[in-house]
Amino acid sequence: MQQHLETRAVTAGRPTVAGAPLNEPLCPASNFVLGGDREYSRDDGTPTWEAFEAVVGSLEDAEAVAFSSGMAAIAAVFDQLPAGARIAWPEDCYQGVAAMIADGERLRRWTGSRLAVEDTDAWCEAAGIADLVWIESPSNPLLEVADLRRISSTRRAPGSILAIDNTLAGPLGQQPLELGVDISVQSATKHLGGHSDLLCGVATTRRPELADQLRRHRELRGATPGAFETFLATRGLRTYPLRAAAAAASAHELANRLEAHERVGRVRYPGLASQSTHHIATQHLTSFGSVISFDVVGGAAEADQACSRVQVVRHATSFGAVESTIERRAAIPGQYHLPPELLRLSVGVENVEDLWADLSQAL
Ligand SMILES: *Cc1c(COP(=O)(O)O)cnc(C)c1O
Repeated sequence: MQQHLETRAVTAGRPTVAGAPLNEPLCPASNFVLGGDREYSRDDGTPTWEAFEAVVGSLEDAEAVAFSSGMAAIAAVFDQLPAGARIAWPEDCYQGVAAMIADGERLRRWTGSRLAVEDTDAWCEAAGIADLVWIESPSNPLLEVADLRRISSTRRAPGSILAIDNTLAGPLGQQPLELGVDISVQSATKHLGGHSDLLCGVATTRRPELADQLRRHRELRGATPGAFETFLATRGLRTYPLRAAAAAASAHELANRLEAHERVGRVRYPGLASQSTHHIATQHLTSFGSVISFDVVGGAAEADQACSRVQVVRHATSFGAVESTIERRAAIPGQYHLPPELLRLSVGVENVEDLWADLSQAL
């Protein structure tokens, strides 16, 4: 029988020889004694990276290529494009990606058209002509959900790539390769690592030629993951299913309570029936995840005050870790499309009643 994902997170990527440690040890090597199958780690990898790649690959039934960060993995996908390529990308997405695409437009590396995440017809039309369709779903921080199944089954430009930033859902929340996407990328800095103590990224694909191209990019651009980071990320992956399930259960409960709170306006969480794409979320997502965005009544100043009052939740950026964090995303330069009073809450694994008491007093 095929193992369940929770089991694979624990069993994959372990040494098998008798007498070996149960976990792949930290191997901080640049070079190896000649005559074996590794010479230099930037070219040939290390056992520590490969253990991490084996776990992620097992979770997605795919080849996984690890990078130094999520942005390095994303840049590796964009680097596959020919000069003057056409890309379609989402209005709501990670701000680093938006900045990278703007830089590429300025350097005339590509031309982009920016689409609303939930406008499936526009994505299907763009897929017919774009060299790269870059989707983020659920998107960060507005938690909009794209109809990946419809977009991936539409007629696409020959030789084009359909890629997704799946950081927000993670492989236990959404399996984009199953939904027909060519490359799924995530920042392992978030759910996979899960403890706010590392930077790492990973791309997965079931197309061997794309995996080879991504590895070649990593080797020649030097976007290699760190030994310690991949060691920690593998350790994080072992408990990822437990952390993700606990955090998602709390997030759903908190989203319901926030929706009923008098100091809170619109709440965005894919699990709420009030969301316009809830029906797509229920088809595509196996978990609604641990991130909630909500508007604070009274505007940006009130939202900032709420952030300054939290005590259990930490006022900090990022998401997907054991500790809950909250942040006003419009305070970040370049995020002009966001409501100024929107807070993004990443729910961790603390007791949900402690989180609610803290949020209630902060609001
Ligand atoms: C954090 C994040 C990234 C970038 O990942 P890094 O590991 O910080 O480079 C990309 N996309 C999304 C959705 C993210 O949340």
